[in-house]
Amino acid sequence: MGQDLHYSVGSSPTDPTDIESISDLRDWMGRCIERYENQVAEFESPVPHGRVYIARTIRYRSGEGLVQTGSAPSFFGGLWSLATCKKGMRGEPEGDNSPNPDHPFQRLFHDSDENGVRRPKCPVYILPSSSRSKSGNDKRPGVGSHRNWLTSVAMVTHGFDSMEDYGAYLRRAHDGEAVANRLTHVSDRPKIAENRGDCHVDDDGNVRYPPNKHQHGDGSGEPKCGCGNTSGGLNPYDHVDNSEFHVKCVSESDYWLGWTEPTFAIKPEDEFNVGSPVSKGLDDILSRFEAVPGGQ
Ligand SMILES: [Zn+2]
Repeated sequence: MGQDLHYSVGSSPTDPTDIESISDLRDWMGRCIERYENQVAEFESPVPHGRVYIARTIRYRSGEGLVQTGSAPSFFGGLWSLATCKKGMRGEPEGDNSPNPDHPFQRLFHDSDENGVRRPKCPVYILPSSSRSKSGNDKRPGVGSHRNWLTSVAMVTHGFDSMEDYGAYLRRAHDGEAVANRLTHVSDRPKIAENRGDCHVDDDGNVRYPPNKHQHGDGSGEPKCGCGNTSGGLNPYDHVDNSEFHVKCVSESDYWLGWTEPTFAIKPEDEFNVGSPVSKGLDDILSRFEAVPGGQ
């Protein structure tokens, strides 16, 4: 369901059209790090850490460009967030493993402050790329094959362990669609929030079981979370979206770029190697990507 609810990735407040080469992109990422250190806090370690992954819900459509058909990453209202997908990458134990407080992603963040905010210890960049699957994706004009397009580059400015803290931050620091389209359980929520929101809190800021219409992963396969059960009485913490073992990530408006018309793609030789996404340093992070001149 909900294909009608897809929306353009390029809602970044920073216009990415001047960023044409990998070296332009590297410079922009470097400027974000400097700005963060000038305006927010110095990093404990200056070495940027990167995570590259395939966001299967982001599709390339002729005439529309990159659109988000899922809940994460979310681009609503000039804010970037990743709260409901790639939980394993962000610290959630997978399979039968027990929670690991030393998970490599957990170690990138300070402990929570009094507002439940976890600031990064070093620059943390997340680079979701689109799927190159032929089903659901059109070819970009002038480009001979389907590509893993770089959809957005986000330097994480805030992390949260709990949905409550994430929801409280959204209400405290933002307004408009950035909040309204993310909160899945407030009484005046728009339809898109129920399906595409990534913060399961109610009017009082309490965590709630995700609504049964909420979006699951890439939308293929049946959800195993029981949220199709409308009878109520489910423990909200039993749903993995609400687990406190994965860091819910936010990138504030000046710290991310999103492309409706993509400019960069994963290099052909790296297309099948995105399963080992840990990289260090801007050159290492960007070595997987190349600029792809458009035929627009
Ligand atoms: Zn669910």
